[in-house]
Amino acid sequence: MTDTTLSGHVDHLVVGAGFAGLAMAIKLDEDGERDFLVLEKGHDVGGTWRDNTYPGAACDVPSQLYSYSFAPNPEWSMSFSPQPEIQSYIQRVAQESGTLDRFRFGVTMLDARWDERAQHWQVSTDAGDLTATTLISGAGGLSEPRLPDIEGIGSFAGQTFHSARWDDDVDLTGKRVAVIGTGASAIQIVPELAKVVGHLDVYQRTAPWVIPRNDRHYTALERFAFRHLPGIQRLYRTAIYWGRECYVPAFTKEPRLAAPAQALALGNIARAIKDPELKAKVTPDYRIGCKRILISNAYYPALASDHVDLVTDRIARVTPTGIVTADGTEREIDVLVVATGFHTTDQPISHHIHGRGGRSLGETWARNGMAAYKGTTVHGYPNFFQIVGPNVGLGHSSMVFMIESQVAYIRDAIATMRRDRYAALEPRADVQERYNADLQDRMEGTVWSAGGCASWYLDDHGRNTTLWPRATFTFRRQTSAFDVQAYDVEGPRTDRTDRTTQTPEEIPA
Ligand code: NAP
Repeated sequence: MTDTTLSGHVDHLVVGAGFAGLAMAIKLDEDGERDFLVLEKGHDVGGTWRDNTYPGAACDVPSQLYSYSFAPNPEWSMSFSPQPEIQSYIQRVAQESGTLDRFRFGVTMLDARWDERAQHWQVSTDAGDLTATTLISGAGGLSEPRLPDIEGIGSFAGQTFHSARWDDDVDLTGKRVAVIGTGASAIQIVPELAKVVGHLDVYQRTAPWVIPRNDRHYTALERFAFRHLPGIQRLYRTAIYWGRECYVPAFTKEPRLAAPAQALALGNIARAIKDPELKAKVTPDYRIGCKRILISNAYYPALASDHVDLVTDRIARVTPTGIVTADGTEREIDVLVVATGFHTTDQPISHHIHGRGGRSLGETWARNGMAAYKGTTVHGYPNFFQIVGPNVGLGHSSMVFMIESQVAYIRDAIATMRRDRYAALEPRADVQERYNADLQDRMEGTVWSAGGCASWYLDDHGRNTTLWPRATFTFRRQTSAFDVQAYDVEGPRTDRTDRTTQTPEEIPA
């Protein structure tokens, strides 16, 4: 429960205070768009980096690139930063931005409805109702944990928690623990658990491809250079960016280019695992890149440990004391860790956003699949912008790059609305349709469609509605300027007097 009370009107309402919401707030402020609020249901900034505190949590994109271009951090300790460092970075950037006075923590947006007559969003929250000219979602695609639909899972009598809701109070020392899932989260958790638990069962449905993690501490000299010669840090960032971009043709056009990565992954297995049976179990039967490529030097050695079992038999049910597989074997455990991912293709926030005619975005997407224009705006949902919307995700590079691209696009949209006094804008239906038809055409033949795996990139219709299928610099170019000709616009805008926040000039001394 929060002690904040919300009412009145704001020009811009941002939902979520992760990388996306914070970037939006900082840039709105920079543009002089000071009449905004950021609603955050948690009690701190950070989003997914605040929530994912499991042991071993770290970023698998180098921090030099996985950080804001406008807030370089010379103090990264390692090439792939651990979660606490990333969370501290986000907190520091937020503090230094001077925008935190417009963040409302502990507030959940319940519902947002487009008011056709008033041309604004009516938003209800658990701290009161307000209206907003634009609604900007920074809720993210990896915020709502997905629990597996396994018979009896609720009946387990021991402790159980999702990877994104880690319970630090549970002492795992010497315990019998099971981890369900072998995705990006699980492969970071497993080696850490293996160090302390008595016995660990890892339940694998599909083997992931895991390449070595070329991690290292930055030297004192490098950090000195980052601090005093910002050009050096920019050079690192640029080199990492282009190195990552090299994956794109392998994923989208020329599978043979992925052969070196696949060889690296096979070498990673061969180095750590000698047992042929285990080797066979961990070797994927689909093309590398079809699912997210994982990086770890510690995962395979952990699986090869005597007190760790990789279980590949299908889980039949969970009992109060353990997990039963399809062959009837019950493995008893004390603690169950569920590392089964997030709601990605059915973004939960979409069910709370109602556009023209009152239809929720969730309903629209349930009918036709998740789709937007440039991953940011949606026909039928005027003045709604979504950061990390459909087809903006990446399998190879930094989401912060994509977020900054979208933030630039939204800023330009807002500047256009101000300049031309538009009350409302939404992408034209035909433009959005063509845009998505082109995206889906480009998906054909990519490793995500033809790589021989099922993944969370694909929705129930088998359409890839999560990933961007081109180079990230193409997305950057497409979002560099707001293309008003692709939009239906309404105007002129009526000026508001009942605002909730004040510009610095308006705040009494
Ligand atoms: P995930 O990649 O979706 O993996 C979920 C795992 O759970 C998969 O192995 C999946 O198997 C398994 N699973 C799901 N339902 C199951 C069921 N009913 N029975 C048995 N197994 C089941 O989730 P995640 O590992 O949390 O990662 C999600 C995303 O978060 C990543 O792709 C990445 O984008 C991000 N992430 C990033 C980092 C980072 O370092 N930057 C770290 C962690 C996570 P199948 O493969 O068979 O579906």
